[in-house]
Amino acid sequence: MENSLLVTPLEKWDVYKKRPLMIAGPCSAETEKQVMETARQLAESGRVDVFRAGIWKPRTRPNSFEGVGSEGLAWLKQVKQEYGLPVAVEVATEKHVYEALKFGIDILWIGARTTVNPFAMQEIADALRGVDVMVFIKNPINPELDLWIGALERIHKAGIKRLGAIHRGFSSFEKTAYRNLPKWQIPIDLRQRIPDIPLICDPSHMGGSKSYILDLAQKSMDLNFDGLMIESHIEPETALSDKKQQVKPHELIEILDQIILRKPDTEDASFRNTLEELRNQIDIYDEQLFDILESRMLVADTIGLYKKEHNITILQSSRWKEIVSKAVSMGKKRGLGSEFVSKILEAIHQESISHQMKIMNEK
Ligand code: PEP
Ligand code: MN
Repeated sequence: MENSLLVTPLEKWDVYKKRPLMIAGPCSAETEKQVMETARQLAESGRVDVFRAGIWKPRTRPNSFEGVGSEGLAWLKQVKQEYGLPVAVEVATEKHVYEALKFGIDILWIGARTTVNPFAMQEIADALRGVDVMVFIKNPINPELDLWIGALERIHKAGIKRLGAIHRGFSSFEKTAYRNLPKWQIPIDLRQRIPDIPLICDPSHMGGSKSYILDLAQKSMDLNFDGLMIESHIEPETALSDKKQQVKPHELIEILDQIILRKPDTEDASFRNTLEELRNQIDIYDEQLFDILESRMLVADTIGLYKKEHNITILQSSRWKEIVSKAVSMGKKRGLGSEFVSKILEAIHQESISHQMKIMNEK
C-alpha cells in the first residue's frame, strides 16, 4: 500500500461523529446581519452541526465579489459564541490560515481550486504545522484522484490528524445539467485507498442549482458518505455569490426531512443469507465473464497470426464500426446503456489489439 494515510489519521473525528454530519451556511459571509440571522435560523432548527461561510472567495472572473475578508471572521466568532456552533471557513493561502486560527475557527476547508495546486497545498501545510485544527479538503476541479490524495498527504504530513474529504464534483468543458459532474467512482476509489477518511458531499456546488440538492444528497447517503455541506442563505435571491444554489434555512430543513438514511449494514441473519446468495451468483457470473473473455482473446490471437501470415494490418476500422453498432443494439435489447456498452467494447478491443501487436511482432 503506497499511502501513508492508510494508517488511520482520524484521532478526534469522534468529536463530530454523527451521521450525517451537517455543515451549512452561506456561500459567502456578506454582512454581520446576514451571517448572524442565517446562523440563528440554522442553529435553532437543531439540525446543523457546523456553520460554514466563505470569507475569501475564489472567483472565476475578476470584479466579482471576492469576500469580505478578515472582518467576517469576527462574525463567525460571534456565531460560535452566541449559538454554540463550530465554524468553518475556506483557506487558500498561509495568510488565510493564520487569520482563521487567530479567530478560533474550528474547521478549515480547502477549495477545489486550491487542491489542484501542490505549491498552494504545501504552503498551507507548512502554515498548519504544529496546529490542532480540523481540515477538510475538497476534490480538485479536475477528476484526478492522486491530486486529491496528494493534498491530503501534504496536510497529514504537517501533523493534522483530523482530516476529511469533501466531494463537490468535477468541472467539464461540455455543458451538462450539473455545474460539476459527480463522477461518484472517484470518491469511492478514495475510500478504497484511505478507508477511514470521512467523506462529506457538497451537493450545492455539484448541482449548481437548489433543485438538485436533494437528489445528490440522497445519492451520497446511499453511498455511505459521512456528511453533507449545503449552502444556505437567509435571502438567496440577493446573495453576492452562488445565488441559484443556495436555499433558505427552512428549505434546507425540508430537504433534510426527505433524505432517507439507510444503514450501512445489518445483523439480520435472513437478510445477510439472501445477500450472500445473490453475491455468490454475481461471483459465478464474473467467472463466466472471464472465461468468455479468455475464449474471445484466443480467437483474436488466432486472427493475429492469420493476419501476420497474410501481411494484413491489425486495425480495420469498417469492421470495428460494425462491431460497435451491433453491440450497442444488442445491449439496448438487454437494458444496457450505449455508453456502457461502447466503453466495455473499447477496452476489450484495446486488449485484442495489444495481443495481436505482440503476436505480429514476434520473430
Ligand atoms: C465554496 O464552498 O463556497 C466553494 C468556493 O467551493 P468549491 O471550492 O467547491 O468551488
Ligand atoms: Mn459557493
